[in-house]
Amino acid sequence: MASVGAASNGARVLLIDKGEKLGRKLAISGGGRCNVTNRLPVEEIIKHIPGNGRFLYSAFSVFNNEDIISFFEGLGIELKEEDHGRMFPVSNKATDVVAALLQKIKQLGVQIRTNTPVKTINYGDGLHEIILQNGESLQTKSIVIAVGGKSVPHTGSTGDGYAWAKKAGHTITDLYPTEVPITSNEAFINKKTLQGISLRNVELSVWNPKGKLIKSHQMDMIFTHFGVSGPAALRCSQYVVKALKKFNVPSIEMRIDSFPEENEENLLSTIQKKIDAEPKKSLKNVLKGILPEKFLLFLIEKAEIDGETAADQVPKQAIRKLTSQMKSFSFHVNGTLSIEKAFVTGGGVSVKEIAPQTMASKKQEGLFFCGEILDLHGYTGGYNITVAFVTGNIAGTNAAYHALS
Ligand SMILES: Cc1cc2nc3c(=O)[nH]c(=O)nc-3n(C[C@H](O)[C@H](O)[C@H](O)COP(=O)(O)OP(=O)(O)OC[C@H]3O[C@@H](n4cnc5c(N)ncnc54)[C@H](O)[C@@H]3O)c2cc1C
Repeated sequence: MASVGAASNGARVLLIDKGEKLGRKLAISGGGRCNVTNRLPVEEIIKHIPGNGRFLYSAFSVFNNEDIISFFEGLGIELKEEDHGRMFPVSNKATDVVAALLQKIKQLGVQIRTNTPVKTINYGDGLHEIILQNGESLQTKSIVIAVGGKSVPHTGSTGDGYAWAKKAGHTITDLYPTEVPITSNEAFINKKTLQGISLRNVELSVWNPKGKLIKSHQMDMIFTHFGVSGPAALRCSQYVVKALKKFNVPSIEMRIDSFPEENEENLLSTIQKKIDAEPKKSLKNVLKGILPEKFLLFLIEKAEIDGETAADQVPKQAIRKLTSQMKSFSFHVNGTLSIEKAFVTGGGVSVKEIAPQTMASKKQEGLFFCGEILDLHGYTGGYNITVAFVTGNIAGTNAAYHALS
């Protein structure tokens, strides 16, 4: 997208990538369908970019999610809107999105060099030197660094750009995994009791050591053999990472509210009505279907109830305890999978040192940044790709203006 921005504005563009193919991460994004952007209003999009989203206000006034949609539709890629505003190609193929971008840059006359790792950059007064791994040196007035973060390195993003940014005088804020599965040492996780169980539309929350809510997300989640994953867990992950660091504790509490739409008293009375309707049936059969069976049995056991007991024989206090477990099942988590396994890298080139309307470095003339290398990160749902395309287009455009000035 940076190449498109630059070439459309009259610059001679060379796109260098160390990989054999361009757009490898884009090609696996959104489960191989490429969640190109999101159609929510800009204000909402900013809210879904908890890592410095507000920095993007000016950028969005120049090029935004609707421009991304028009851009791809102009290239013949029909898009469709799914839940939560997520936009996908109608073909459900991320490779179509990559192919359209490639066709566009070729049409614009962008020169492409793949299998060409950049080693470093020597910044000069007006003219910069890009040193390739093979020793070759290239001179240019404008450079856009678009090398991504450190996550999923087999796609090419191995964090090479941070050193080049530092060399230009930039600050790199702490790097950490975000949108990443969460790990736990709880016995039920180690014993894989709930492995593979999905919970739909639950509220998953992160709590500080003093019992204060840090963040909650209402979405689906899944128990894995090492902890929890799924959209709600991915969204909570950065808060777990930050809380473990901030409070310097070995674990952090998370809670699951299995019925976020109902308060505890209502839930209790719903359960009581079910018991009253079939008092002689076992409790576990009376409650069958209100939650995935394994999870229900697990919570019944947690409430110290024998699920085989006739429902009307279970003490009221025990039913209340079960309801509490359903509303607020608490467990501890001790970390996340590594940054390499995360969907997104948190932290990066400090946005304080980047001009928000041009993506130009405030430290080095002729240098521009875009995408995940910046200290910008969103939830999954098309927000990171939106960040990359928006900042890419603007960085490329302004790199062209600079080169031609
Ligand atoms: C599995 C997966 C699913 C995802 N799903 C979504 C999603 O649904 N929605 C969403 O918004 N985001 C999603 N993301 C995140 C999103 O794909 C990234 O944030 C986005 O691709 C970042 O774009 P970028 O251009 O900054 O970096 P990248 O896409 O990482 O591209 C960086 C490029 O730089 C090249 N490069 C690196 N170092 C060098 C070097 N030294 N020399 C030359 N070239 C180099 C690499 O080869 C690579 O091609 C997903 C990520 C993953 C891993």
